[in-house]
Amino acid sequence: MTNRRQFLRNASLLAATGVCANELSAASLSAASGLQPKKSFGLQTYSLTVNRDDREFSSNVPGGLKRLAQMGYTTLELAGYNPEGKIGDVSMADFKKYADDAGLKILSSHVGSAEGGLHTRNNLQAHLDHWKKVAGHHAAIGCKYVIQPGQPTSTRSTEEVALVGDHYNKIGEVVKAAGLTFGYHNHSGEFQRVVSGGQMALPFGRWPYGRLHESAKMIMDGLLEVFDPSLVVFELDVYWCVMGMQDPVAWIKKYPKHIRVLHIKDVSVLGESGMMNFQKIFETAYANGIAEFFVELENMPSGGTQFEGVKGCADYLMKAAFVK
Ligand code: MG
Repeated sequence: MTNRRQFLRNASLLAATGVCANELSAASLSAASGLQPKKSFGLQTYSLTVNRDDREFSSNVPGGLKRLAQMGYTTLELAGYNPEGKIGDVSMADFKKYADDAGLKILSSHVGSAEGGLHTRNNLQAHLDHWKKVAGHHAAIGCKYVIQPGQPTSTRSTEEVALVGDHYNKIGEVVKAAGLTFGYHNHSGEFQRVVSGGQMALPFGRWPYGRLHESAKMIMDGLLEVFDPSLVVFELDVYWCVMGMQDPVAWIKKYPKHIRVLHIKDVSVLGESGMMNFQKIFETAYANGIAEFFVELENMPSGGTQFEGVKGCADYLMKAAFVK
């Protein structure tokens, strides 16, 4: 590790060779001195619990968080909140202490919705009550975002999508009153299209989308056109965007005020599939002022552990010159 004294010595050596320090870029000076600016990226902790047979993290959360910091992660997005105020089996207060001890900042948390994800004209209050409680628990640990991780069940028509958007703005007000920001995270389903009065077509067996029609509206646009960016932040999962046959760069450019957080995800370990243009994604995100990125890993490398996969992702980002 280069300390301040070594840094000054290296800088003076550069000056002695006739190189004027103020002509050097910060990057070349830090490279010459060995002082690299710390990169900033986080982990969605679901990456460590997705395989329930792998108890490496859940059996030792304090130790696991320290390992993440050593890999280069700087922030966390939690998963596994339950209404008793726990993350998995750990109280939120303890989780915060463990993160602090590891030098990791808890920025965000994925939390499931109330009412089975169904939004009607009569159940707004149940949703508001749920998120008010969630926001209170997360305010106590200094969290910045609480995020709806999946698509509601009621997105079967343009009218239902608009209602969900309206409810989310109102949830956003409740969460904002607690000092946090409410957010939404996509999968590929939001890139399906719905029509006015859409029926409960079940084209893929699982998701209740409306009928496909050339005049239909993409659910993603339906939501983002209604979301008030001062109340609802959009966390774009770039992998699920590609799985929805879409270009994440185009979406980041299309909704710069809404898309403020990214999930950085690939088929397995980042960069291995070759199908994700992470350089362009990061460059576009930085150009828009996006500062918060969470790695997510669902499919572990063959025969590997979750920690090995998560380390592989960190190694990729640490080596990538385009990641700040
Ligand atoms: Mg994700």
